[in-house]
Amino acid sequence: MSLVNSALSAILPLFPRWMSKPFAKPYVAGETIDEAILHIKTLNEKGFAVTTDILGEHVKTQDEAEHVTHSYIDLLHAIKAQNLDGHISIKPTHLGIDVSYDVVRDNLFRLLEAAKTTGSFVRIDMENSPYTDASIKLYLEAKLRFENVGPVIQAYLHRSPDDISRLNNGKLNVRICKGIYRETEAVAYQDSQTIQNQFVELVKEVFKGGGYPAIATHDIFIIDEIEDWIEQNQISNDRFEFQVLYGVPMSGKLTALLNKGFKVRQYVPFGNDWFDYSIRRLKENPKIITYVFKNMFKKD
Ligand SMILES: Cc1cc2nc3c(=O)[nH]c(=O)nc-3n(C[C@H](O)[C@H](O)[C@H](O)COP(=O)(O)OP(=O)(O)OC[C@H]3O[C@@H](n4cnc5c(N)ncnc54)[C@H](O)[C@@H]3O)c2cc1C
Repeated sequence: MSLVNSALSAILPLFPRWMSKPFAKPYVAGETIDEAILHIKTLNEKGFAVTTDILGEHVKTQDEAEHVTHSYIDLLHAIKAQNLDGHISIKPTHLGIDVSYDVVRDNLFRLLEAAKTTGSFVRIDMENSPYTDASIKLYLEAKLRFENVGPVIQAYLHRSPDDISRLNNGKLNVRICKGIYRETEAVAYQDSQTIQNQFVELVKEVFKGGGYPAIATHDIFIIDEIEDWIEQNQISNDRFEFQVLYGVPMSGKLTALLNKGFKVRQYVPFGNDWFDYSIRRLKENPKIITYVFKNMFKKD
């Protein structure tokens, strides 16, 4: 299957945008802030919290990075104006880390000021391993000045237990996910069981350190393991949340989690960069093609 996936990911960029749109549509909440707001509202009405991401990454100029920052500030104000339960997720390379560290830090601080004013929160998404150190440094600097910020730690990285112990100071609000980028054996585990085990252990460590884990996965084995542990250890519902990507079918699991009184947050990407973004993701991780095809025939 991986050969087929690789071949498909090589030819998909040759498709015109209109032909590729049906593949991206279930996972992307439109192209504009207004469209995204409608999706967030609908999800809130169904009981879900939201984190929103403006699609894009690897901007090359300071102007572009500032433009992205202003779009996020507009988004924060739109969420506030509609009184929605939503915060934002940003990527360091989208806010200008490839331009310079100072550019990304200034843009992030500007966003955090706006998020503070609008009563919101900023999640710093984690990109591929060349950015891990700088993203953690960015988080630590931001956390000195702002409460409303949290990092992401990827369960597939060998370094992640050390990162969690370093960050776990009782005030940590961290998303734990498996990690989506293709990484070498030198930096990341490759087998799924080791990654599952490390994921569960990282979440437990966050709890033990008094932190707040955002458990971001569609893997039912991991969700069930953590649910059991939470029950055994009588962890209250306000100490964690589950997170999923918008549009990924979960065979009724999301409703079950909501019915248990757990917070479930959907990650909702939008923006006119959906085509390039989807293609880059597919090339990095052709496994996504299998998901897309599988999910086209599934219902939630
Ligand atoms: C809220 C959220 C935020 C994330 N943020 C980051 C981040 O900052 N950095 C990062 O590196 N990664 C991030 N990820 C991606 C994550 O690292 C994984 O690559 C992704 O979630 C797939 O892993 P899984 O735990 O769902 O398990 P898997 O075993 O990969 O997936 C379990 C099942 O879920 C379904 N599924 C999973 N992913 C998809 C998909 N994309 N499309 C369709 N179906 C799918 C499939 O049916 C699959 O069989 C995030 C994921 C979530 C849910």
